[in-house]
Amino acid sequence: MKTDLPQSFNRLKYLPPYYTLSQVELDIALDPARTIVKSRLEVLPGPNHEAGLPLVLQGQELEFVSLRINGEAHRQFELTPLTLTIHALPHDGCQAFSVEIICVCIPEKNTSLMGLYVSNGNFFTQCEAEGFRKITYFLDRPDVMARYRVILRAREAEYPVLLSNGNLLSTEKLANGWHTAIWEDPFPKPAYLFALVAGKLECIEETITTSSGAKKLLQIWVESHDLKKTRHAMDSLIASIYWDEKRYGLELDLERFMIVAVGDFNMGAMENKGLNIFNTKYVLAQAETATDADFANIESVVAHEYFHNWTGNRVTCRDWFQLSLKEGLTVFRDQEFSADQMGSESGRAVKRIEDVRLLRQLQFPEDAGPMAHPIRPDEYQEINNFYTVTVYEKGAEVVRMYQTLLGREGFRKGMDLYFKRHDGQAVTCEDFLMAMADANGCDLEQFKNWYGQAGTPTVSVVESYNAAKKEYQVTVTQHPPANVKNKDTKLFHIPLAMRLLTPAGDQQESLLELTQESQTWTFPDVETRPVLSINRNFSAPIKLDFDQSEADLLTLFSSDDDAFNRWEAGQKLAMQMILQGRLPDAALISAYRDLLMDPALDPAFKDLALTLPAETYLYEQCVSVDPQKIYVARRAFRKAIARELRMEWASLYQQMQTPGPFNPDAASAGKRALKNLALSMLLEADPLIWSPMAVNQYRNADNMTDRYAALAALVIQGSSSAVACLEDFYAHFADDPLVIDKWFSLQASRPPVTDAVATLSDVRRLQGHEAFRMNNPNRVRSVIHAFCMNNPASFHQMDGSGYAFWAESVLALDAINPQVAARLARGLDRWKQFAQPYQSLMRAALERVAESETLSADVKEVILKALG
Ligand code: ZN
Repeated sequence: MKTDLPQSFNRLKYLPPYYTLSQVELDIALDPARTIVKSRLEVLPGPNHEAGLPLVLQGQELEFVSLRINGEAHRQFELTPLTLTIHALPHDGCQAFSVEIICVCIPEKNTSLMGLYVSNGNFFTQCEAEGFRKITYFLDRPDVMARYRVILRAREAEYPVLLSNGNLLSTEKLANGWHTAIWEDPFPKPAYLFALVAGKLECIEETITTSSGAKKLLQIWVESHDLKKTRHAMDSLIASIYWDEKRYGLELDLERFMIVAVGDFNMGAMENKGLNIFNTKYVLAQAETATDADFANIESVVAHEYFHNWTGNRVTCRDWFQLSLKEGLTVFRDQEFSADQMGSESGRAVKRIEDVRLLRQLQFPEDAGPMAHPIRPDEYQEINNFYTVTVYEKGAEVVRMYQTLLGREGFRKGMDLYFKRHDGQAVTCEDFLMAMADANGCDLEQFKNWYGQAGTPTVSVVESYNAAKKEYQVTVTQHPPANVKNKDTKLFHIPLAMRLLTPAGDQQESLLELTQESQTWTFPDVETRPVLSINRNFSAPIKLDFDQSEADLLTLFSSDDDAFNRWEAGQKLAMQMILQGRLPDAALISAYRDLLMDPALDPAFKDLALTLPAETYLYEQCVSVDPQKIYVARRAFRKAIARELRMEWASLYQQMQTPGPFNPDAASAGKRALKNLALSMLLEADPLIWSPMAVNQYRNADNMTDRYAALAALVIQGSSSAVACLEDFYAHFADDPLVIDKWFSLQASRPPVTDAVATLSDVRRLQGHEAFRMNNPNRVRSVIHAFCMNNPASFHQMDGSGYAFWAESVLALDAINPQVAARLARGLDRWKQFAQPYQSLMRAALERVAESETLSADVKEVILKALG
């Protein structure tokens, strides 16, 4: 039977819809126990229509009540747990007709947080990717776009605020204590961008004038006690709006733009048209409760969701395989925005380093593991599993490469053409690529391979210098990722920014475009043997295989003018020594010292330069991972840096104080970061001497960054003062869930102090704590995910106790919230990479989960791919 259901989740099997929608009217009577949803759909034959085809709507966990076609009761239909199939349509479905459906859902029982649910007594929705079908029967696919008119009804005393997408047309009080609000969204949209919110909320608002001279109302809705924490989000929103006008000529297209915060949310935030819904974690901040990292994350997530208004909403995805079309592009846009907000060139570099660190720590392992997929996947079982660091962060790297190849202006031309061609449409990644190619008159055929191939390519570099000829040669070779290599593997188009560093400084930066398997470039007139700085600013998301001497790396670390590569050289030196079980030698210590004491350098850069590569990134360099050995080697290396540079840490701790009222700007945050690194290094070197100073900072801090950093330093050292400070912290912040999340996650991610088993028993104790909630994703992530995914040295125990805990937790969570469970299930992805006994113990834990007969599609896909 031909239907608009996906035949199978395969990219190449895409078919345009048989039916489509022009207008949608929803009348929703909100009741936690029984919400009645009446819908009226104006249906049209779609681009792929054939006479006589039934209309197949998707619906999940709904109670069906009634169906009318063109106003008449209609009985020719079939219901299954996932569909409503309507036969005998008027005129064989060849002309427009209306469908009216009444159905019921139960928001208070919805713990998946997809569709319509209740959080702290208020109603919220989450429809991306396929949640709308849990609200009513629908053509729930992104290439079906319609205009929405929504009537919300609820008891006024409990739900005074009623919000949906677009503009508020009218409100009315009804006799029985209920009230209504009618909302209309002027822009056609797919169902995944629908939203409603109802409950006891209050807002701060602001009116701004945008480039065309229009006035726009901006609102941020929260529970009343949180109003005082919304200023930073509002400032971030306003900055984002102006930035998008300036950088891309994109103006806010609605009269009203709302952000709503909710404490129960699966992800970070959601870009519903005109009504963004946010995890409270990415809205609420004030100095006393939020760290500098929180402030920065809020700024970037607010920008991300706002930028989706154009890249995602005005131009959306044809199908979910194209997810990176909106996500990769929007992450790139938010990264660029945040870089500009840093306020300096060195700030931009700091932001770039942070983004690359995240990519390598999380995306490289994904790309090398059992869930590896291209940024545009070809196949999936559960789309929720594909909101990944690959689609988002690697997708952003691919977008960044267009800009590197075409220049900022060329990139802007491509964006302009993309909107000119596709405004109001649901399109593909290829449409984006063609806009970039056509606007710049260039051929991007080979560049397409970045969309279709998984895995991180390796680029090897061999150099030679001929002193007699004064000639330098570099040969660059690309190697397809080992885990995905087959006979059809295609070559990538790889932009490599490079510069030859010479004492005279006479060589300019250039861009090598590696398009063949191997290419050689020759540089004449190079007076002395240069030091090569390549893949500057991380111009391509690759692994570099370049056997550069420690002396050259030290030169780069102390003097590369590309701040990213300067940082990179230091990371590489440290990484090599840690993996060889060495301690930092005198030359490296002295390079660290010079860098720390250089008054011209940005403190935030110093902080990053002295932060060692993460354990999980070190794992990626090994064939057979021994997690305890890596932990011990890395910790010893860190202790050596702490001890050798005692004097410097002590003086930086003094120098980096930021007197005056708290300011979350990048410059002050950078100073605090370096000061707090100094504090933790002092405790690492001489815990007994410096613990009192940490306690002092903990007590007297006027902001969460300093308070939390001091507490963390004490907890990590297992200091005897830690217990009292933790108790004090809990008592002080007990009524602030986001701060209590920090309290939980700090304890769950504490590395082994004396014996590692202690952390697991702590985690079990935390799970029994009165404030632990298994159905709140933030709380679960701050305990279970923090321990299993953020605390490798405690998690990977030789007796397998960490893995047993993991299996137990995946199963328990799956019954409540499959998305949160599936995320945790990813925790053992890389099991094959580990040494024994870890590997066998991990496999046993995976098998234990696989044996369950009630697994969700989400968890099943992850576990079976891991075992497969
Ligand atoms: Zn997004």
